[in-house]
Amino acid sequence: MRGLTTTMARVVPRGEKMLTLKAQGVLVDGSINELREELYLTRRATQYIVDALWELDKLPSINQLHQMFYGVLRAQGFRAHQCKQVYKYALSIVKSARENNGKKPVLKKLSVRLDKYDSRVDLEKQLVIVKLRNKVFKIKLLHRREYIGKFIDKKWYEVIVSIDRQGRIWVSIPFKWSYKPYEPRRIISIDINLRKIVIFNGRSIRRIDTRFMEALSMKIHAERLQKKYPRMWRYNRRIQDRMRKLHRRSRNIVIDWSRKFAKYIVLKARRTRSAIALEDLDKLWFNSSRKSKTLADKLSRFAYRKLQLAIITKAMEYNVPVIFVNPRNTSSICPRCGARLVYNHRLTVCPRCGFKADRDTVGAMNIYLRALRRMWVVYGYHLNAPPMNNENRGRGRTKDEPMITYIKSYTSI
Ligand SMILES: [Zn+2]
Repeated sequence: MRGLTTTMARVVPRGEKMLTLKAQGVLVDGSINELREELYLTRRATQYIVDALWELDKLPSINQLHQMFYGVLRAQGFRAHQCKQVYKYALSIVKSARENNGKKPVLKKLSVRLDKYDSRVDLEKQLVIVKLRNKVFKIKLLHRREYIGKFIDKKWYEVIVSIDRQGRIWVSIPFKWSYKPYEPRRIISIDINLRKIVIFNGRSIRRIDTRFMEALSMKIHAERLQKKYPRMWRYNRRIQDRMRKLHRRSRNIVIDWSRKFAKYIVLKARRTRSAIALEDLDKLWFNSSRKSKTLADKLSRFAYRKLQLAIITKAMEYNVPVIFVNPRNTSSICPRCGARLVYNHRLTVCPRCGFKADRDTVGAMNIYLRALRRMWVVYGYHLNAPPMNNENRGRGRTKDEPMITYIKSYTSI
């Protein structure tokens, strides 16, 4: 790391954030068909306003929106506050589509947003009650009590109820959340690639197999289908369904696995009072690799984004500090002496000091060192740097870490 000039780092700042409670729900009062119909009507009304707004050169103000659509929506039986939610939401999607130079938005999800006047949240009883037009639906939240309990007494703004393709009900409630990360005593760094995540805690290296390759193979499968039926796939319902299913499964694998890993690493960090250090791939990496359209690159961008988001969200929930470091050259500089490394496949031996490791290990160690160097700037104190040459085979393996596939420590010769 010596010789590296830029080691900028940023942290997720403490303070007021939004943390969303998301839970599957089941109706205890009201019928699912009626709920579905309400969501359908809401979607249709929202789409109607989106279509109308799309024709306008200049988007109206909220007041003007009210003038234009309140009466129409009320005539369809929507409650006063729901009308407001509908046109405000329609305006926000049109705005963001225009900002991104996108096509006219077409709503696909069956969902509805409600404010305090049309919904009630009782977390003690795990109940959410929503009023839609002249109907009332009582939804029981199916989630661990411990998870839901965290949100009790926190402020919330709206309730979003949706029904997915499988007919399941979902409830999301964004809460005001105050994030107060503790002062870390240690650092855990993470190097991410499609196959593996490498974790370094200053003493030993751990590698965890991701499920991203599985997600990738589904994308590849879908692409093969498309190639096999170059013309037909567009018109053939059966092929389209299969492709859609593969894409959906691929996406679900990435999201599920990211959540699981995020929880694992955040709890581990909290137990050892560590900060989590990640590469800040926001601008540099996403921009420079955007050109690459291969399935693997596209999936790794998606997976990295989901994983990063999952880690930040979980870290906020548990007040675990997160440090982002500059991703530049993290795998091309010797973590022990700072010399430039040359790889033979994924392995390297430092030409200056003889340090031997594979690419991901070098990455995780350099991320660790960068975070360590920024401790003073971010937290006002230093942590001692561990030597980068210890052989720590077999250390630190405990029972309560089911996600770990402990291989061996790769440090040094
Ligand atoms: Zn070296």
